[in-house]
Amino acid sequence: MTYTFQSKLPNSTASIFSVMTALAVKHQAINLSQGFPDYAVDPQLTDLISKYLQQGFNQYAPMAGMPALREQISAKFKRVHDLDIHADSEITVTAGATQALFTVMSAVIHAGDEVIVFEPAYDSYAVTIELLGGKVVPIRLTAPDYRIDWQEVASKVNARTRLIIVNNPNNPTGKVLSADDVAQLAQVIQNSNALLLSDEVYEHLVYDGIAPQTVLSHPLLRERAFVVASFGKLLHATGWKIGYCVAAPQLMAEFRKVHQYNVFSVHTPTQLAIAEYLEDAEHYLNLPTFFQQKRDYLVEALQHSRFEVAQSQGTYFLNLNYRAISDKPEQEFAVELIEKHGIATIPIAAFYHDGHNQQYLRLCFAKKQETLEQAVQVLQQI
Ligand code: PMP
Ligand code: GLN
Repeated sequence: MTYTFQSKLPNSTASIFSVMTALAVKHQAINLSQGFPDYAVDPQLTDLISKYLQQGFNQYAPMAGMPALREQISAKFKRVHDLDIHADSEITVTAGATQALFTVMSAVIHAGDEVIVFEPAYDSYAVTIELLGGKVVPIRLTAPDYRIDWQEVASKVNARTRLIIVNNPNNPTGKVLSADDVAQLAQVIQNSNALLLSDEVYEHLVYDGIAPQTVLSHPLLRERAFVVASFGKLLHATGWKIGYCVAAPQLMAEFRKVHQYNVFSVHTPTQLAIAEYLEDAEHYLNLPTFFQQKRDYLVEALQHSRFEVAQSQGTYFLNLNYRAISDKPEQEFAVELIEKHGIATIPIAAFYHDGHNQQYLRLCFAKKQETLEQAVQVLQQI
């Protein structure tokens, strides 16, 4: 018998990050597209992983994560935000932020539920919502300031709104929510039956004296939010795929109902290594200085180019407008940059469901100084 199969995601294709990195490899281009560091992870950290591997910590971790790591995550919340987060009932270690995002959405979205997503948006959100039978309600924010109209947000909330997703600091815009934005967000949540999913993977990558922030500092959001974070960003190790989710006990219990069946638990020696490494808070408190120096180098150097540099308050991304150079749409111009000039970037249009084009490209500056210098040389000539 022939079989028929109906795809659950008929329109899904390779992600823009995979596509651009593959093109960069093919054309041996400088790869500032997909967000990942091109320098080594701290050897102290890799030594710690070896240590725990060799000591025999090679079997399943507890479902919620190694207690030592959850204690360190809790201590980090206390140190950075003066928040008391309970390691046993409010933190779960995940296989990266992507799995945490997927698990939160799986735990809360029922078929037919609506989810508000601000665009430009990270690519996994909409696909996950659709897969779960939810409905994406996009709210378009536009360059250069990507200001949120909270009245518009309130007008999109109804009885079916299950979740609002924010990403702060934002990939790809580099924007950080203001205190007023957070207050307005809390107001919208309070007047609804919705929960909040706050993607805070770039929490510690904030510049110009901006302090790291979490929605959990807001008393109402502390009860209604899931926060997702990634050690890939915190430790310059995107390939390790380890992160965590934090939520109030009742929400975390629902999260774990899904987590225990889609991963159960995460790589044990890496959890122990990260726990020990985090005992020294300098490892993450130094991140703003480390990355701001890279951002500032690029911003300054690109003043001597035809690109217009947008402000980046956080993340390791910088956006460039190229209206003075080309009329081409972003995707086409990005491919031309790879093929003709040997430099790979990400079109911001890829973060809008309708490919909204504003002539901006995203650059990742989590790169060695040498890579940034090579990129500057190319960009200054265009
Ligand atoms: N959210 C955002 C906004 C991201 O940029 C990324 C990717 N770097 C993730 C989630 C996924 O993080 P992870 O690699 O830990 O799954
Ligand atoms: N988060 C990374 C970025 O925005 C990419 C992650 C991925 O390739 N899925 O570039």
